[in-house]
Amino acid sequence: MGLKRNNIICYYLIMAIRRIAGHALAPGRIIKHHIRVHGTEIHVPYIIITGTKPGPLLLVTAGIHSAEYVGIQAAVELSSEIDPEELSGTVIIVPVANRSGFENRTMSMVYEDGKNLNRVFPGDENGTAADRLAYMLFNTFIRHVDAYIDLHSGDGYEELIPYVYYVGDTGCEVQAAGMASCVDTEFIVRSRCRTGGAYNMASVNGVPSVLIERGQLSIYSREEVDSDKADIINIMKYLGMLKGGHVEYTKTQLFEHEWFSPSDGCWYPEYHAGDTFFAGDTLGTIRDYFGKTIKKIIAKENGVIIHQCASLNILKDGPMISYGVFNEEELSLPD
Ligand SMILES: [Zn+2]
Repeated sequence: MGLKRNNIICYYLIMAIRRIAGHALAPGRIIKHHIRVHGTEIHVPYIIITGTKPGPLLLVTAGIHSAEYVGIQAAVELSSEIDPEELSGTVIIVPVANRSGFENRTMSMVYEDGKNLNRVFPGDENGTAADRLAYMLFNTFIRHVDAYIDLHSGDGYEELIPYVYYVGDTGCEVQAAGMASCVDTEFIVRSRCRTGGAYNMASVNGVPSVLIERGQLSIYSREEVDSDKADIINIMKYLGMLKGGHVEYTKTQLFEHEWFSPSDGCWYPEYHAGDTFFAGDTLGTIRDYFGKTIKKIIAKENGVIIHQCASLNILKDGPMISYGVFNEEELSLPD
C-alpha cells in the first residue's frame, strides 16, 4: 500500500510538472481553451480533461480534414462526456484542428493557403498557414503524449468504408496495433507511410497512434458519431484509462495502394467502396465533356476498394482509387 501511495504521489507531482499548452496537468480538471497559431489569425480550440487517478496522456484530434464531420462531432460530444472522476490519466481533445477550413468550407484544405494539412506534418514555424498550424499541433500536443487517435472520414468527393490505420515498423507498432484492434471495423490497414500525416509523424516519433476512418461524402450520422465515440472509449479501456474490459475485434489486414488519376475529366467508377475486384477488371473510365474515353482504369491485381473518388469531376494526380491487397508482396504499381 505504501508503494502504491508513493506511486500516486509521484503521479500527482509528475502531472503537475507536465505542462501542455502552458497548463499544468493538475488532477481532476477540465480546461477549455484556444491556442493561436503563430503568425496567423487561426485560433484552434482544445479541451484537456485530467483524471483524478494516474494513467497515460491520450490525444484525440479531429478535423485535420475539415469537412470530415463524423470525427469532429464525436470529438465535440466526447469533450463534455468524459468525467475526470472516472478517468485515469489525461485526455486532450482537439475537435476542429483545421478550424479556418471548417469555417470557410474549403473541404479538406487549409483556407489561408489551400494546402492539405495532413501532408505537411511536422510542419514549419516559418512556413505558410498550414505549415505553421501543423508545427503548432505537433509541438504543442502530438509529440508530448503517450498515445494518439486521429479521426477522419471520406471528404465531400470520397466514398469510404470504415477502417483503421496504424504504421508498421516504428518500434511502437505493437502498441498501435493493439489500439487498432479495439476499433470496430472489418479492415485494418498497416501503413508504410512515415511522412506528412499527423499520426504518421507521431508514430515515427514513438507515439503509438491510429487513424480511424468512418463516414463518407462529408455526411455524418448519429450512428457513425456513436461508433467513433465507442471506439475511443474502447481504446481508453485498453489503455487502462477507464474501468471495464475492452473488446478486441477480429480484422482483415490490408496493405494500401493509393492510385492517383492520370487525367482531368469526368469519372465513371464501376465499383463502390467495400467491393472486391480481380486483376483485369475495369474499375472505372475517365471521359471528356464529349463523352469520349480518355482512359480506362484496369486493375493490375486483386484487391478491395477502401476509398475512392465519387464525384463526377476527377483531377489529374488527384485521388482516384485507394485499395487494399491482402499480402504486401502482391502490391504492384499501377500505371
Ligand atoms: Zn481525412
